[in-house]
Amino acid sequence: MTNMARKIRLILKLRKSITDTSVLSAIERVPREAFVPQTFHDQAYEDTALPIGCGQTISQPLVVASMTQELRVNDRHKVLEIGTGSGYQTAILAKLCRRVYSIERHRPLLEIAEKRLSNLGIRNITCKAADGMKGWIEQAPFDRIIVTAAAGEMPPQVLLDQMSVDGIMIIPMGRDKSSQFIVRITRTKDGYRTEQLMPVRFVPLLPDIARIGSIPVREETEDPFVFQSPFAFQS
Ligand code: SAH
Repeated sequence: MTNMARKIRLILKLRKSITDTSVLSAIERVPREAFVPQTFHDQAYEDTALPIGCGQTISQPLVVASMTQELRVNDRHKVLEIGTGSGYQTAILAKLCRRVYSIERHRPLLEIAEKRLSNLGIRNITCKAADGMKGWIEQAPFDRIIVTAAAGEMPPQVLLDQMSVDGIMIIPMGRDKSSQFIVRITRTKDGYRTEQLMPVRFVPLLPDIARIGSIPVREETEDPFVFQSPFAFQS
């Protein structure tokens, strides 16, 4: 089966639960194989998480699509993303909002992600290597915040503070990996409203910037940032 056929199969699967056509369209337009190491190119359109180096993973497409849909993002929104990882979720968001500010604690992952996004001609993003738990005070408040690593039982207060009124945050939360849920937090003029959405399994949200060389980027060494996709340059 070709990657094109696998991509069509994936989109058909996502259509069963994702009703927001702008989200489906963004998934169709972003070539996921450009965000996974070369060794996993033939699995890029399977509905699974894949290793991206530094012990991290690119999320499962259904989870990316669901979180994006629940974020209710539009082209007027300024979005903060915590956990750039491969840059795939960043690319999806960039198709749907005004600007994405994305933070990653592993500098090598961030550098690779920025190259990929630039190769795809995606320009409405600003990235930095930092501890996303501290938010991005210079750019706050944000209309939308999406966290793609799991917080414990409480969302970081700093991120709650950096939401605009009527803003939405989507964040995986839970005590351990077996009891994580995506939570939607909406800021109202009086406080915050919380809704528990779907069960998920995410890598943990960790404090501080990762020490360079602490974990090898291993899986990325073969990734030359080149890809041959018929979808690569559509926008
Ligand atoms: N959205 C990513 C998923 C990456 S996995 C994608 O589409 O590929 C989660 C990422 O969150 C990892 O890269 C991890 O390093 C990062 N992360 C964890 N804690 C963080 C923190 N405090 N600040 C910034 N990034 C963090």
